[in-house]
Amino acid sequence: MTGVSAAYHLAQAVASDAAGASMSAVVLEARDFCSGATGRNGGHFTPHAYGEFRSQEQTYGTDEALRHIAIEQYTVSEVFKILKEAGKVEHVDFVPGGRVILFFTAQEYDEARKDYEAAAQAGIVMNGVEWLSKAQVEERYGTSHPAVLIPGNNLWPLKLASVLYNLAEGASDRFSLELHTRTPVTRVAPSPVGSARRWELTTPRGAVACSYVLHATNAYAGHLLPWLHGPDGIVPTRGQVITTRAAAPFALGRAGFVSDTGYWFPRPNKTATERQLVLLGGGRKAGPGKEFESNVVDDSVLNPEVGKVLREFLPAVYPGKFEEGTEPEMEWTGIMGFTKNKDPFVGPVVDPNDPDSLVKYKGQYIAAGYSGHGMPRTFACAEAVAKMIYADMTGGKWAAPEWMPLHYLTTTKV
Ligand SMILES: Cc1cc2nc3c(=O)[nH]c(=O)nc-3n(C[C@H](O)[C@H](O)[C@H](O)COP(=O)(O)OP(=O)(O)OC[C@H]3O[C@@H](n4cnc5c(N)ncnc54)[C@H](O)[C@@H]3O)c2cc1C
Repeated sequence: MTGVSAAYHLAQAVASDAAGASMSAVVLEARDFCSGATGRNGGHFTPHAYGEFRSQEQTYGTDEALRHIAIEQYTVSEVFKILKEAGKVEHVDFVPGGRVILFFTAQEYDEARKDYEAAAQAGIVMNGVEWLSKAQVEERYGTSHPAVLIPGNNLWPLKLASVLYNLAEGASDRFSLELHTRTPVTRVAPSPVGSARRWELTTPRGAVACSYVLHATNAYAGHLLPWLHGPDGIVPTRGQVITTRAAAPFALGRAGFVSDTGYWFPRPNKTATERQLVLLGGGRKAGPGKEFESNVVDDSVLNPEVGKVLREFLPAVYPGKFEEGTEPEMEWTGIMGFTKNKDPFVGPVVDPNDPDSLVKYKGQYIAAGYSGHGMPRTFACAEAVAKMIYADMTGGKWAAPEWMPLHYLTTTKV
């Protein structure tokens, strides 16, 4: 999503700059289009209403905590606007059913309530946020836990990425875009002397010369930027998802759900009689000796321990709505990129161990490390780096928009 979003924003920048130059962009994807986390996540597309507000405020100050919320609101409203203008809202299975956050313990409820109150006090308008008692949740959703309902959506991420790619490709005659799948970049090195371009990218299918590189490689960023390996960088972390059918049609309605241990939402029904298909992810705390499946990069296998937790989860949360012992229709894993503060690295490539790195890596940028929460952030982070690149190319200066958390920027992390 980051790479394609950046292509979209570069295309828009070229298209809207009538006097500007032409640009060629190439998306190099190691495997298939959208085969990383974007193609494997649950599809929640919900901006935080108040989440993590107190910890963000305590660590970075109120303005940054507000930006941390604003970037997600911005992403979701912009993407929706684009989909609407392109007539693609239904195409991507966009369901604005809201998100129900269930609290299984009193502590979870209290913490959420405090974040909500702190965010409201700082000025966040809580339109559409509704706190629900156990009885209300039981009546509406068939599970007996207190909850809060916030505005939210789900969609099919691969379809969204395809729409953005196609829009980028058709944006302007002066913007050319190519996609090369099965083309892993194995090395980024300075171009040979005399080359018109700064960087040479090595791939098994040949070299690419370019002046700007965006590392939109999320969990795998450390492969080309080795200092990002380890806890101060981006830690690959495996998530697992199943799809399973409820006992009845429309068993869960249209909302998406999250709890401390999982996230799930119903896929849109194809007929009025089919049992509702529900997509569920989470259960990572189950990995024996591998808390949260940290430092795991293999998304070709399933973790049976996590699978067991996922199979038992919905029948336990919704008594009578899911049959126990039902095998999932599908099950898969995907790799997320976690950072120590759960916020991404966005901006020019900076090696914290090398004071000259801004000069040394000039032209290289990164937007990665969304920590399992990229859907409402990738598009905007990609916009920030795309605009930095465009400003640099055209002799302009990038200024952070009001929705951009400054502490995400690589240049402020050092
Ligand atoms: C199971 C699961 C559930 C999730 N649930 C949610 C959720 O509910 N809500 C939410 O907001 N987020 C969720 N996420 C996280 C979300 O999917 C990611 O934050 C987001 O998709 C990141 O997008 P990206 O484009 O940066 O990374 P990716 O989609 O991972 O794309 C990076 C791409 O780079 C390619 N690549 C890497 N290295 C190279 C190289 N050297 N050369 C060429 N290509 C390379 C990879 O193959 C990959 O396709 C989940 C993720 C997973 C795996």
